[in-house]
Amino acid sequence: MRFETRAIHDGSDPDPTTGAVIPPVYLTSTYVQEEVGAHKGYEYSRTANPTRVALETALASLEGGPRAVAFSSGMAAETAVLLLLQPGDRLLLSNDVYGGTYRLAVQVLEPWGLNVATCDMSDLAALEDALSSQHTEMLWIETPTNPLLRIVDLKAACEMASEAGAAVVVDNTFATPFLQRPLEWGADIVVHSTTKYLGGHSDVVGGAAVVHESEEPLAERLGFFQNAMGGVPGPLDCFLVHRGLKTLAVRMARHCSNAEVVARYLERRDDVVEVLYPGLGSHAGHEMAARQMDGFGGMVSFRPDGGPERAAQVAARTRLFSLAESLGGVESLIEVPAAMTHQSVAGTELAVPDDLIRLSVGLEAADDLVDDLAQALDA
Ligand SMILES: *Cc1c(COP(=O)(O)O)cnc(C)c1O
Repeated sequence: MRFETRAIHDGSDPDPTTGAVIPPVYLTSTYVQEEVGAHKGYEYSRTANPTRVALETALASLEGGPRAVAFSSGMAAETAVLLLLQPGDRLLLSNDVYGGTYRLAVQVLEPWGLNVATCDMSDLAALEDALSSQHTEMLWIETPTNPLLRIVDLKAACEMASEAGAAVVVDNTFATPFLQRPLEWGADIVVHSTTKYLGGHSDVVGGAAVVHESEEPLAERLGFFQNAMGGVPGPLDCFLVHRGLKTLAVRMARHCSNAEVVARYLERRDDVVEVLYPGLGSHAGHEMAARQMDGFGGMVSFRPDGGPERAAQVAARTRLFSLAESLGGVESLIEVPAAMTHQSVAGTELAVPDDLIRLSVGLEAADDLVDDLAQALDA
């Protein structure tokens, strides 16, 4: 079956006892046993819950892996994946990785014994250097990156990592499996903040990891971590993310077309210094994105002229674009990363230009979004 069909049906069999088309949300912590050890596969909801299993089934299907493991947030999923490493192991991060990932690696796991390095992975020569300078156990890729929307060549990066004996993790939050399936390019593990496009409605926080079929022991280990470390999502959260998945295909198609309209409008304005959108011919990663993605996504970054003060003014003046962190919901959001989402990386190599504005382009009418940006820029 194709993506759109699997998104709706996988993990969503009608309830056998009542015929309910939508399986019930199993709000239960425990399960009755007929005699000691005789149960229906469920003993305790940290270990397994039917609503979570349904979500994991759908996520695995969409990313193309045999197994997905759901967590209570993207960061909980990342923590579990990073703890596959041992003290002394080297983790190589892209140099504009999600700020929370950098913070976790440097402020939590480096003191614990991890050896953390960064490099610009959109530059394959720099990646080759970083991999050959020291043995690396894990390569952590984001593409498109946040908020600069750089594109990393997944196939080449996975080949280099495989030659160097490093496992590859791809944070696929920005692209979603509708636009990009890293396991097909050779990644070992895909991680998600399901809080963003997969949930899609800004009403739930969640995360997940999906493992390649050739890495079954890693999947086993992550499943063990889910229960042993306990960062599990509640049943209602699982239901919300799963419901979001069912409309992912139609939502992403509109996120992409709206973002393109917005990016082209911004590109036409004289008072905008730079527009970053992988769908624009002017974008350094445009051709690579066209090769490895099925669309260019819903995120657009731009720099108005006038410096950080003007950027802050524009972000405060939009009416339809809400000034807020996060992304991937049906409603459009605007933010200034240097002062908001990326404040924790100020002064580090991950710092972003202070006049950069990031848009999460939602599903409103594209013309209304353009009108809103026009009035905010003209004010
Ligand atoms: C939001 C985000 C995360 C963290 O996920 P949470 O659900 O907020 O814990 C990780 N990676 C990327 C790319 C994100 O956008």
